[in-house]
Parts: sequence; C-alpha cells; structure tokens
Amino acid sequence: MDCIFCAIMNREIPGDIVYEDEKVLAFRDIMKQAPEHVLIIPKRHIESLLEAKEEDAALLGHMLLTAKKLAKELGIAETGFRAVFNTGSDGGQSVMHLHLHLLGGRSLGWPPG
Ligand code: AMP
Repeated sequence: MDCIFCAIMNREIPGDIVYEDEKVLAFRDIMKQAPEHVLIIPKRHIESLLEAKEEDAALLGHMLLTAKKLAKELGIAETGFRAVFNTGSDGGQSVMHLHLHLLGGRSLGWPPG
C-alpha cells in the first residue's frame, strides 16, 4: 500500500514527529496553517472517518485526548485550538489515511473556507 503517512510512521520518509504511543503517531504538518499544526494519525491504516467502525470508538477517543495532551504540551491549550477531521473531497481530505488536524497559536477564522 502506497501511503505517505504509513511511510512516515515506518520511518521510510522523514517526519517531524512530536508524539508516539502504541496506538497513534503525531507529527508536524509540512504545510502548516497555523503556528502550531500537528497531525495525529492512528497507526492502523484507516482511510477516513467514513471508514471508522464502532470498534474504533476507543481509538477515535484516544486521538482526541492526544490532541488535548499535545495542545497543553505545545502551549496552545490556554489560548485555544481546533481539532478537525477533513473527510472526503468536499471536506478537503487530500491524504487517505485518517488524521486529526490540531491547529493553534493564532485566532482561527470561522466558518472555514
Ligand atoms: P488533509 O488535506 O486534511 O487530507 O490533510 C493532509 C495534510 O497532510 C495536509 O495539511 C498536508 O500539508 C499534510 N502533509 C502531506 N504530506 C505531508 C508530509 N510528508 N509530512 C507532513 N505533512 C504532510
């Protein structure tokens, strides 16, 4: 399978990894959209939120709690942050390996473009 995020996880291509445990990997987005922009991915390849199943509930929860933990560590918890799953073409998903964007460090606009 040709997946760029699996390649980062397997250290086949470089990534600016900020966190790893047995279930997830987090690394800095290569085209950051905010002063802090981290992607949190499950180690198991799941294409998108649409492919997630009931048995993935704990994994999805763990991804969100990892976002909270990293927000604190990166110093953006107090000022606020956004955690978002882009899904499908209208959702702006460009990499078909589930990922949670964690963005912060500036005031983020709403609604998104
Ligand atoms: P999305 O468009 O929601 O699928 O998000 C995919 C994100 O992956 C984009 O923000 C890209 O900038 C980011 N990205 C793509 N390739 C890499 C890479 N090699 N290392 C880090 N981030 C990447």
